[in-house]
Amino acid sequence: MKKRLLAVLAHPDDESFGPGGTFARYAAEGTAVHIAIATDGAAGSVAEGYEEVRDRLAEVRAQELQAAVSILGAQLHTMGYRDSGYINDPANQHPDAFINANEQEAIGRVVRLIREIRPQVVVTHDETGGYFHPDHIFCWKIATPAFYAAADPAQYPDIGPAPYQPQRLYYTAFPNTWVKLFTLLMRLRGQDPTRAGRNKDINFTKLGLPSRKIHARINYRHYWEVKEAASAKHSSQGGGTSRSRLFPVWLQRRFMAQDTFLRAHPPVPDGYRESDLFVGVNLATDRT
Ligand SMILES: [Zn+2]
Repeated sequence: MKKRLLAVLAHPDDESFGPGGTFARYAAEGTAVHIAIATDGAAGSVAEGYEEVRDRLAEVRAQELQAAVSILGAQLHTMGYRDSGYINDPANQHPDAFINANEQEAIGRVVRLIREIRPQVVVTHDETGGYFHPDHIFCWKIATPAFYAAADPAQYPDIGPAPYQPQRLYYTAFPNTWVKLFTLLMRLRGQDPTRAGRNKDINFTKLGLPSRKIHARINYRHYWEVKEAASAKHSSQGGGTSRSRLFPVWLQRRFMAQDTFLRAHPPVPDGYRESDLFVGVNLATDRT
């Protein structure tokens, strides 16, 4: 009857820079939190001072990931795909890149994880991947059908133990309220929000969802430091510098220590709100 959560995410760091506070909170409150990371992160950008590890980035990032996941109190599962790059990155052409993986095979890997772990709650990226990263979008593309296929004895009959249907599917998503403010600030500074980011290839005006589509808000104020400590382990990615420098830390901790999700299954109407991913989950139907 233990609560179990499985997150299927693209890169080493998505678990910490993303909903790391939520994972830390659930783990600390007694939920078994499992984090599956699809790729090795080898196509990611490298922080200043880490240029010399470029050639062995997959190895370095695997170590960083393990350390971060341990701090969050979760259990790590690596899926072993090769990292793809952002849109138009040459890394996307590599035949072993995650986005070029056989979709049915990749879905099968997630089905196996679901049947083995038996999570009541599954979390993955949303269909925009947050900022249109192809690996994030591919994660959504395989984890969503896997959520349903895991329960179907006719699908992937030879994979994993008995079929199992998780009860909730959530996508990481954020409201575009802040994005609107941020793009306005960029315009006022004379910057073009449609060509933002390090490589000028992110259209900020398309980021985020209307807040009525944000169904779950998880407060992790008491786990702020845990998320920070896990994020700091990803030092080849810039580690703990992911926080905004625009606002003082106490203000961020008070008002921004919140992860937001869209509830995909079972669907809920616009405007629906909950503050716990396990709300309404029936633990009694579970044998373990
Ligand atoms: Zn990512």
